[in-house]
Amino acid sequence: AILANQIAAGEVVERPASVIKELVENALDAGATQIDIEIEKGGHKRILVRDNGSGIAKDELSLALSRHATSKIASLDDLEQIISLGFRGEALASISSVARLSLSSKPKAQREAWRAFAEGRDMDVKLEPIAHPDGTSVDVLDLFFNTPARRKFLRTEKTEFSHIEEVIKRIALSRFDVAFTLKHNGKLIKKYPKITDEKNKFKRVSAVFGNSFSERAIQINSQYMQFNLFGWIVGPGGERNQNDLQYVYVNGRMMRDKLINHAIRQAFEGIIDSQLYPAYCLYLTLPPDEVDVNVHPAKHEVRFHEARMVHDFIYRVVNDVLQEQLQ
Ligand code: ADP
Ligand code: MG
Repeated sequence: AILANQIAAGEVVERPASVIKELVENALDAGATQIDIEIEKGGHKRILVRDNGSGIAKDELSLALSRHATSKIASLDDLEQIISLGFRGEALASISSVARLSLSSKPKAQREAWRAFAEGRDMDVKLEPIAHPDGTSVDVLDLFFNTPARRKFLRTEKTEFSHIEEVIKRIALSRFDVAFTLKHNGKLIKKYPKITDEKNKFKRVSAVFGNSFSERAIQINSQYMQFNLFGWIVGPGGERNQNDLQYVYVNGRMMRDKLINHAIRQAFEGIIDSQLYPAYCLYLTLPPDEVDVNVHPAKHEVRFHEARMVHDFIYRVVNDVLQEQLQ
């Protein structure tokens, strides 16, 4: 079972940033409103994710560490959807097969907190009482300590940390209603307070993208039939943008979609020097049955049923806003 988990781990757990993505997504699934992430040495040494979500009951702790132990399948329909998203119910087991993982948790309704960790050659799961507030902590030490081949692929602390920051930025911009903190080697690096008022969303965008974006950002909020496009773009002029400031969310999920990128690029053509990357953070909302997000889970691609209409809608909205700016 350990070997099977390690093979699965190769797919889920590529580097520290992918561990963090899985752990933070679990915390969000558990309804957390506060998520604190602590990293040591770019995540090679330690990754700790603590949340204030629903918690895991004592008798479900060891199960959560075993493969296919997802609690998120309630019906066959769910199952199909979850399978198509890939690797469901495997993240914790996979991570635990390539690191020293411990899971501490306390559901509100349970008086004591418990900690579960796998130990020994058979990776038997041990339980011990621990002090812990309502919610869950996952502590991941010595990533890839038992898989030297994987460990060799880790880059410098700085590089791994920048991948981690990128993952957290993307998630932070998908959940304004959740507070996040990020510490690296004991130092507080990022603090994103919870945004409760729609009007204050831009505060988080500025915190994530920095001044050169936020000083020039133009807000978009357009509706056409059942499509809505909301967000910010950086208009013509100014210094060269970084091409990693291109975020698109479709119905709340981060996507890297060719069609959308093409529509945006086209909207910028002739307005901004093509040598300058346009920067944007955009949220496209449309009815769920207009979009198929299961095409390429790993590539973050979507398929729109009305592809042409979506393309033209985005093109027109972005282009209009840019034209207006030129006048
Ligand atoms: P999945 O998220 O696909 O269900 P995981 O391996 O990531 O699979 O997690 C296994 C199970 O452990 C989850 O289904 C959930 O029940 C539980 N779990 C994991 N992390 C948390 C958390 N932070 N809070 C509450 N429950 C959690
Ligand atoms: Mg998960």
